[in-house]
Amino acid sequence: MSLLVVGSVALDSVETPFGKVEDAVGGSAMYFSASASYYTDVRLVAVVGQDFPQEPVTFLEGRGVDLSGLHRTDGETFRWKGKYGFDLNEAITLDTQLNVFGDFDPVLSEEYRQSDVVFLANIDPTLQLKVLEQVENPRFVAMDTMNLWINTKRDELEKVMSKVDMVVINETEARMFADESNVVVAAQKIRELGPQFVVIKRGEYGALLFTPEDVFFAPAYPLEEVFDPTGAGDTFAGGLMGYLARNEKFGHHEMRLATIVGCVMASFDVEKFSYEALVDLDRDKIFNRFEKFRKLTSFGELSLIDD
Ligand code: AMP
Repeated sequence: MSLLVVGSVALDSVETPFGKVEDAVGGSAMYFSASASYYTDVRLVAVVGQDFPQEPVTFLEGRGVDLSGLHRTDGETFRWKGKYGFDLNEAITLDTQLNVFGDFDPVLSEEYRQSDVVFLANIDPTLQLKVLEQVENPRFVAMDTMNLWINTKRDELEKVMSKVDMVVINETEARMFADESNVVVAAQKIRELGPQFVVIKRGEYGALLFTPEDVFFAPAYPLEEVFDPTGAGDTFAGGLMGYLARNEKFGHHEMRLATIVGCVMASFDVEKFSYEALVDLDRDKIFNRFEKFRKLTSFGELSLIDD
């Protein structure tokens, strides 16, 4: 199934305890597309300025991503500056420059309007809504967001949430959005707005999937070296949505597997800066990591002493 994504394509300046990069290629839609491209055909909607390098564009083209919705206009590319302390779960935003996203008004092509699966990656909710309204009859729609939009565009954000099937959000932002410290209650409050499914991303502690029936826990892979967590959430969403679109099913069982696939993809992303770790993945690498996840979480029957 075709998977459409709208989100940021960015130049990120990131500092972690292990290094620093300036104007590294990133953005929610960039990570998402790279990750989802291992599973299905991706259509990208975003805008970059004249200063955006050609290399990532060539990379995405090579991965079969449809870039007819990636506009290049006069002005500068969206920029995000952030930093991580030793707690790599929490990015601190130092600066956000919307630049060309400030007046981006996407008009979808006829082909894009027919997309089956839609992901509204982290970007201004007004833009998420503009894109969603143009898709004619999507089978499954999911979205992400962040603190900036929770603080500045609350009403628009709630409107988008009420129109999607799934919200994928990180733990701190879920708490902030719901004004609730308990993540289970926070997820419930989000589900009350409309989405059937809520996934709470918990960084190195994995992800929780809330469905109408139950809760599922997916761990994060315990890596020895986590270099740069930037984009882990978007890479997670790319794996999750790519898997769902590939299998064309959106039931309970598929949601669980898709959440694990998301964790598998995110575990690669954090090993290198920018989208580097997503460049040369293949079937074997993905399957091997998936098997490691299976071992990580499987245990036998409990036999009680008195049996
Ligand atoms: P994450 O997956 O949460 O680590 O997302 C990191 C990416 O989000 C970075 O590559 C940033 O360029 C992008 N980003 C940060 N702030 C924003 C924002 N306000 N709108 C859209 N994208 C953003």
